[in-house]
Amino acid sequence: MSKVVNLSELYPGAHNDSVLVVQEALAQAVGLDFSSGPGVYGERTREAYAKWQQHLGFSGADADGLPGMQSLKKLGARFGFEVRGEGESGRVPSPVPGHGVTYRYGIQNPRYLAGYHTGDDYASMQGTSVVAVRDGSIQWSNDNGGAYGRWVGLQADNGRVYVYCHLWQRGVITGQQVRAGQQLGKVGATGNVTGPHLHFEDHPPGPFVYAHTRKPAW
Ligand SMILES: [Zn+2]
Repeated sequence: MSKVVNLSELYPGAHNDSVLVVQEALAQAVGLDFSSGPGVYGERTREAYAKWQQHLGFSGADADGLPGMQSLKKLGARFGFEVRGEGESGRVPSPVPGHGVTYRYGIQNPRYLAGYHTGDDYASMQGTSVVAVRDGSIQWSNDNGGAYGRWVGLQADNGRVYVYCHLWQRGVITGQQVRAGQQLGKVGATGNVTGPHLHFEDHPPGPFVYAHTRKPAW
């Protein structure tokens, strides 16, 4: 399963990717039309969620349209998303869910200034989601990566800085807190590339320094 929903992000007025995943499931489960507010936990979404709770046999305060772990996990099991509770940190197997490394770190190649490939590449279609590999905060998110194109730096809770390069779209802003599995942007081909892929680097803490990398691990 590639999508992750954080329970802590589901509350009236919230606007985030977890809400959007739940709305997509509710559209199938109870016919929610969320075209007027995709990603926004508004009144319609709350009513639709209450219907889902009633469908599960909940009533009264247990069918108030405010998600709890039980009803949310059942929705996820049926419509293909994973649920994370408050304070849980899940293992994210890939920065591009469902995709593996297609060109490895460390391969000697004179095309690169460092003489070797400074990250792992994940080739995939333009628009494929890239996600935070750990909890952390966004150290930078801008279009100024030069050869790296549109890029995002994630300062992770293990002290490392993970760099997501060549993005088509960025979905986070500098300073934002993110959870493991949360979408950061979409795979693209910005900067110096031959085709769409994520170039993913693993750096020590501090400002970005070219080729101060290790084989990506998290
Ligand atoms: Zn690369």
